[in-house]
Amino acid sequence: MNITHIGSVLLQPFPWVLVKVTTDDGITGIGEAYHGAGVHQIVVDERLQRPLIGQDPRHVDRLFRDMMRSMSASGFYQGTVMSAISGIEMALWDITGQTLGVPIWQLLGGKFRDTIRLYNDCHAGETETPDGYAAKAKAVEARGFDALKFDIDPLPSRRDRYNRCISNDDIAHYVEVVTAIRESLHPNTDLAIDAHWGYAPVDILKIAYAFEDLNLLWLEDPIPPENVDAMAKVAAATRTPICTGENFYTRFGFRDLIQAQAADIISPDLAKAGGLLEGRRIADLADMYYVPLAPHNICGPVGTVAACHVCAAVPNFLVLEFHHLDNPVWSALLHETPLIHDGQITVPDRPGLGVTVNEDAVRRHAKENLGFFR
Ligand code: MG
Repeated sequence: MNITHIGSVLLQPFPWVLVKVTTDDGITGIGEAYHGAGVHQIVVDERLQRPLIGQDPRHVDRLFRDMMRSMSASGFYQGTVMSAISGIEMALWDITGQTLGVPIWQLLGGKFRDTIRLYNDCHAGETETPDGYAAKAKAVEARGFDALKFDIDPLPSRRDRYNRCISNDDIAHYVEVVTAIRESLHPNTDLAIDAHWGYAPVDILKIAYAFEDLNLLWLEDPIPPENVDAMAKVAAATRTPICTGENFYTRFGFRDLIQAQAADIISPDLAKAGGLLEGRRIADLADMYYVPLAPHNICGPVGTVAACHVCAAVPNFLVLEFHHLDNPVWSALLHETPLIHDGQITVPDRPGLGVTVNEDAVRRHAKENLGFFR
């Protein structure tokens, strides 16, 4: 069996990137790459395809390394290139699973669980008031989710857009908002808060200390991601659990973060960080420090189901992100729909990814088709 073609499609209005790998015996694999700028074009770049065309798609790890090597002299790459590689890697696993008649989770070592718990990323409240946030939280909880996330991005009123500092009024606002959300939810419903890299350690710690009695699931990306030492300082200083990881790539990128114990929970994005086997490796690295895994995920249903295979196959899975509640395009892209029941996805038992793309729906929502339907 050899790879004959690799195509991509950029969807709209949300710019998901789907990948399709075709083989000479008629089996095709589907994957999804993180929606970074130009990723759908990198997927079909000749330098990325050269090590794949004509090769047996079932040698997934070797092809993963060949893709990295082909894209840079050192064999190491981050950013949009790794997102494209991640989407192709998923499709190679889909082909391998179909060929062997087993689901991907089986190829990753078997499964620890049959259903994958999701948290719904709610972003903001129905209004900017504490009551507006609490109303949104209760409405989403009532739909079956027992884990939610809200954002505490820097407010437009902040004094200075560049120094990462926050006024006492803004701290008081977010403490009031998050307290209102927490008090509106069932005690056993988990609440995570995302700071989107917006703050200086000295200021996010004021917020983290004020949150300590709210028993948050985590406070995410409290400071920018580049400085592991600063992240470790924040994590060590507060009882509020710190989560980070969506801007880290491959096991090599996670190594310092995990070894420095700079995060209580890590959140790799599997459609970005290197794909499914790399996700398993990152999870194993975290497990050596007893750190749970809560993958970042803003994918359409293909990337979300792919992530579910890893989440099923690693012991330290905590919860998987979900972004697209009530998005009819998200729900239309697979034949298997609805995927989500009571805030959970049942791990597919069918070979490969275990789901099939509705190509009519993809065609309807395609912004740019670079060979996906070939
Ligand atoms: Mg985030």
